[in-house]
Amino acid sequence: MIQKVVLSFPVDATDRSLTYDLVKQYDIRINILKAEIQAGKSGNLLVELEAEPQKLDEGIAYLIANGVTVSPVSSKVSYDEKWCIHCGNCVSACFSHALTIGAPDWKLHFNPDKCIACKLCLKSCPLKLFRIEFAES
Ligand code: SF4
Ligand code: SF4
Repeated sequence: MIQKVVLSFPVDATDRSLTYDLVKQYDIRINILKAEIQAGKSGNLLVELEAEPQKLDEGIAYLIANGVTVSPVSSKVSYDEKWCIHCGNCVSACFSHALTIGAPDWKLHFNPDKCIACKLCLKSCPLKLFRIEFAES
């Protein structure tokens, strides 16, 4: 499971190895997308956290217990519909069933409400039709 969040560190937490602890104690992989941290000041990290759901929940609870504000980031996935050839590759990759193809029209349909922003469709589309944008929610 992948979750995008903004981590806001209070002044007294920026020097602690909280992100290191996420990796070592909770087996969470961290992909830092954007960082705004200065020594001695509060800081923000936009990150993707990847782990088993339970480990992810435990790791986020650990951050919150240590004074870090964890803000979910909503991701907006879209695709360029006019070029879609309805090959179904992205449907196979989308385990949340946000992408479907079926009767009666056998065309690709996207349900944003089911999208968990895992980005697997971005890699699976041979025509590279998918885009992802981030916005703090
Ligand atoms: S980002 Fe993931 S859940 Fe969303 S449409 Fe693509 S494959 Fe499906
Ligand atoms: S993989 Fe790309 S071309 Fe194929 S159905 Fe999905 S969006 Fe359309």
